[in-house]
Amino acid sequence: MKSFDETLAMLLDAARGRPTRPAIEVDLAEALGRIAAGPVASAIDVPAYDNSQMDGYAGRVSEINLSPEPLPVSQRIAAGHPGGPLSPGTVARIFTGAPIPEGANAVVMQEQATVDEDGRVSFTAPAEPGQNIRPRAGDLKQGQIVIAQGRRLTAADLGLCASVGIGRLSVIKPLVIGVCSSGDEIRQPGELLGAGQIYDSNRPMILGLAQALGCQTIDLGCLPDRADVTRQTLADAAKRCDLIITCGGVSVGEEDHIKAAVAALGALELWKIAIKPGKPFAFGRINQAVFMGLPGNPVAAWVTFVMLVRPYILAACGVASVAPQSVLLPTNFDWPKPDVRQEYLRGWINAQGYLEIHGRQNSGVLSSVTESAGLIEIPSGASHRKGAILRFIPYSALT
Ligand code: AMP
Ligand code: MG
Repeated sequence: MKSFDETLAMLLDAARGRPTRPAIEVDLAEALGRIAAGPVASAIDVPAYDNSQMDGYAGRVSEINLSPEPLPVSQRIAAGHPGGPLSPGTVARIFTGAPIPEGANAVVMQEQATVDEDGRVSFTAPAEPGQNIRPRAGDLKQGQIVIAQGRRLTAADLGLCASVGIGRLSVIKPLVIGVCSSGDEIRQPGELLGAGQIYDSNRPMILGLAQALGCQTIDLGCLPDRADVTRQTLADAAKRCDLIITCGGVSVGEEDHIKAAVAALGALELWKIAIKPGKPFAFGRINQAVFMGLPGNPVAAWVTFVMLVRPYILAACGVASVAPQSVLLPTNFDWPKPDVRQEYLRGWINAQGYLEIHGRQNSGVLSSVTESAGLIEIPSGASHRKGAILRFIPYSALT
């Protein structure tokens, strides 16, 4: 049985060994969550000109500080309406975002200014050079890289691109991912449940996880526990998908047909790994398509997706750093029985800053995921005592 780390390394190798995915151009409005196909450089300085950070008066520091008389206002400069050079011995009325007139080297905020009946201004506090001025290129310099290749674009990235005038971006073409569930006991929401039947929770969950990573998904339905249908569905899917994800049907039972179908159509390269929940995870290929078989138990399907499928998808799309952000924290629970498998418990950080676990850790209890905030990692072979330190991966780092 491969360890979790060995499995992850193997999947990342497979992902990075694939040919580089094609790029497509999209508008900023469609770019959220997509992956930059190349670096993006700024074509301009941001800001492109010195401008005021305040509503107030722009002037020369020497005159503001030393003039024995109030200074007359020689011009009014609003945002979007550049003024002329500042006449000596005067100030300019100026507003936030407006260009600093040539000759001025400080802005005094209006709260520190008094205007007499002749409209002349005196100041209640001394000024310093550069005060309240946002200098040209103070945010970005022309030519500076604003988006690194392989970055997953956030809303702030879209704002940054817009700030340098970029309205279209070259992004990686999404992976096409086919998802199917399996099992004769599985029914769909809306259908009536007969004896011994359960609803299909995995398929909408896995489709959702893949969509949240920006993938294009194909719903391949739910497979009955039949070798011929399984084989036919997977063979067809391999023609349309970059990655096929199944769930269930990869254990050792006589009704588990998925592994055999993959082996017959292509190659099964890995089956069973040292992770709990999630041991029966399978990996293989059918022609050009990659196959990943997730366990049927919903929590096991969820954990194997976020810990293994997710990094594979991101790496296949050229994301350099795929490890989720995590924190090391003390716990308030004992976990005395060591397991050869690396365990992922569902839990959260309590108000005192300790890791706490959900009371039901069975791999069939999907509400343990919705009622918790992250995964707590227990390294393989380790028992765990209250107060010792464990790694916590918040769910927000796994989307
Ligand atoms: P299997 O690996 O097919 O034996 O499935 C393991 C367990 O997960 C069984 O209890 C199945 O009923 C359950 N299971 C399999 N697929 C699903 C699914 N799509 N939704 C919910 N539970 C499932
Ligand atoms: Mg089954």
